[in-house]
Amino acid sequence: MTRGWNFSAGPAALPEAVLRRAQEGLLEWNGARASVMEVSHRGKAFEAMAARAEEDLRELLNVPGDYKVLFLQGGATQHFAQIPMNLCADGQRADYIITGHWSEKALKEASVYAKPHAAASSATSNFTTIPARAQWQLDPNAAYVHYTPNETIHGVEFHSIPDVGDVPLIADMSSDILSRPVEVSRFGMIYAGAQKNIGPSGLVVMIAREDLLARNPRPLPKIFRYAEHAAQNSMLNTPNTWGWYLAGLTFQWLREQGGLVAMEQRNREKAETLYAAIDGSNGYYRNPVEPFARSRMNVPFVLHDAALDAAFLKDAEAAGLLALKGHRAVGGMRASLYNAMPIEGVRALTGFMADFAQRHG
Ligand code: PMP
Repeated sequence: MTRGWNFSAGPAALPEAVLRRAQEGLLEWNGARASVMEVSHRGKAFEAMAARAEEDLRELLNVPGDYKVLFLQGGATQHFAQIPMNLCADGQRADYIITGHWSEKALKEASVYAKPHAAASSATSNFTTIPARAQWQLDPNAAYVHYTPNETIHGVEFHSIPDVGDVPLIADMSSDILSRPVEVSRFGMIYAGAQKNIGPSGLVVMIAREDLLARNPRPLPKIFRYAEHAAQNSMLNTPNTWGWYLAGLTFQWLREQGGLVAMEQRNREKAETLYAAIDGSNGYYRNPVEPFARSRMNVPFVLHDAALDAAFLKDAEAAGLLALKGHRAVGGMRASLYNAMPIEGVRALTGFMADFAQRHG
């Protein structure tokens, strides 16, 4: 068996070079005579690795000095709840921009500690667009504005950072972090589950402006308080050491690839190649998202006849093209094109799509 082209939405393909490096150190890491999973997170070797990972991430994203970088656990879902817990007074309004499944879920989880308000929503379009900024009903006194720059299921992506005035902007970047340069100073907080563009699941990377961490709206156990994690350099308790290590390897790999400017170019080329194949298929394949809001990371598409779906998936798998089944909320197919997917994988997919269309007329 050989590795296939893995189009999974997450946990997703990791760069092969990263996996090979991890494999090399799996039994004995860094002179420790044990693997990275088997040494103390308080030891010198792990601490040095952890610090290097943070430095590399700061370098990649050009993170300003007044932002903390945290390596947390719980998946992005836990932080849907923990963010309002840390940032909102009881019943305080927080604005949410609803552009798909994940922003909806974030809003629902916020309602225990805050009064989340859908300041804009594209639900009536079945989440195939982004509501025009002029229609957003933002409250200047809101605790924050939350949005999802890339909706992993609906394949909708913001291609610029919305201007929300002085209210801190919070982004769930789980499925597009590190896919291009981003101006961190425009955000109050950025957070992302690792299992798409960073590493294995079970790790969350958060970049948070210090003034937001200083908010203290209610008594909380330390383990739920971001300021406490920041004060302890994300080592308040035993962190996800393996995840942190793999994240560090990915950050090094990204730097070797030429950083985020190079990734942006590649990601654009990959997405253009796939959308061109869909749009040029005379309706055989179709992507429902308005072109200006199409995601470069997750490309959902349907076949002209859903009765062909099973054959498409079976033949694709036989051709080494894995995990193309779409999310049940949208149906059809979805190809995820995170950083680790090379253009060759996308060409293999578009070649297969043309061939399938010809064979099945
Ligand atoms: N936000 C986005 C944008 C996602 O894509 C996902 C997972 N696919 C989540 C949140 C939830 O992440 P987790 O399962 O790690 O909690």
